[in-house]
Amino acid sequence: MQCSKCRRDAVIYQRYSGLHLCEQHFNRDLEAKAKRAIREHRWIASGDTVAVALSGGKDSSAVLYFLHRLLHERRDVRLMAITVDEGIGGYRDPARARAIAERIGVPWVTASFREEYGVTLDEIVARKGTGLSCSYCGVLRRALLNRVAREEGVTKFAYGFNLDDEAQSVLMNVLRGDPYRLTRPVREVAGFVPRIKPFMYIPEREVALYAFLHVEGFDLAGCPYAADALRGDVRGILDAYTYRHPATKYSLVNLGEALRNPEQPPEGGLRVCERCGEPCGEVCRACQVLDEVRRGA
Ligand code: SF4
Repeated sequence: MQCSKCRRDAVIYQRYSGLHLCEQHFNRDLEAKAKRAIREHRWIASGDTVAVALSGGKDSSAVLYFLHRLLHERRDVRLMAITVDEGIGGYRDPARARAIAERIGVPWVTASFREEYGVTLDEIVARKGTGLSCSYCGVLRRALLNRVAREEGVTKFAYGFNLDDEAQSVLMNVLRGDPYRLTRPVREVAGFVPRIKPFMYIPEREVALYAFLHVEGFDLAGCPYAADALRGDVRGILDAYTYRHPATKYSLVNLGEALRNPEQPPEGGLRVCERCGEPCGEVCRACQVLDEVRRGA
C-alpha cells in the first residue's frame, strides 16, 4: 500500500481517518497531535521541569523520545526521567529504563518500594493476594513518584497514557458507577505535581509503532499482575466494539473531558497526611495501604 499523502510505502492504516501513512507522514501526524494536546491544555510553560514517569515500556519510552525531540533546543524547559522500581520479579528492570534514558540523552533518577517502604510489590502480593495488586501498586507508586519529583524540582509529570488507556479509564468509571472519578476536575492541587498526557488522543497501536521506529530496547513484557485488573476486561470489550465503530475511543475520551467540571470543589478539600506529610484528599491512602500490608489485614 502507498501512503495517502505521497508515493512512499505505507507503514500504517488509520481506520478512523481512512489514511494510509508512510513513516515520515506517520511521524508528522502523531507529533502534530501530541503537540496540539500540549498546546490546548497549556501543559508546558517556560521554567518547567518536566519528568517522564519512565517504566521502560513502549508508552513511557515513546513519550520520553517525543518530549526530547520537542524540548531539547529549549533552554527554558528541563526534561528528565524518573523510574520507580516496584519490586516485581522478572518484570521491572530499572537498568532497561536507565539505558533508554541514556540513549535518548535525558537525566535519569530512580527510587524503589524496597528502599522507601521496606517492602516490594511481590511481597505485598504474597501477603495480600493478587486481587488488589494494581490498587496497592498504583497508590504507593504515585506517592513515591510525587515525593521524588518534588525533591528534583519537577513541575510537570509526563505519562505515556494513550487513547486506549484514557478511553478504558472513562468506561471503567462508568461500569463501577463512580460519578466522583468520572467528574473529578483536572486541576492543580498544592503538593501534587500536575500530570500531563501528550499521547492521550493517540491510539495505542500508533504509540507502539512510534516506539518501534525510534526507541531501542524498550520492554515488551507485560506485568504478571495485570491480568487481575478490571482494565483487562474493559480493554477486551472496548476493542471489540471499536472494531465495528472506529470513533468510539475518541468519543469516550471526549466525554470524560466534558464531564470534568473545573468548577467542582475537591471532595473534602485538600488535607495533609498526619503520618507522612504527603497531600491527600481525605486520609493518605499510601499510609492506609502500608498499614494493611504490615498488619496483614
Ligand atoms: Fe502495578 Fe498493576 Fe501496573 Fe503491574 S499492572 S505495574 S501491579 S499497576
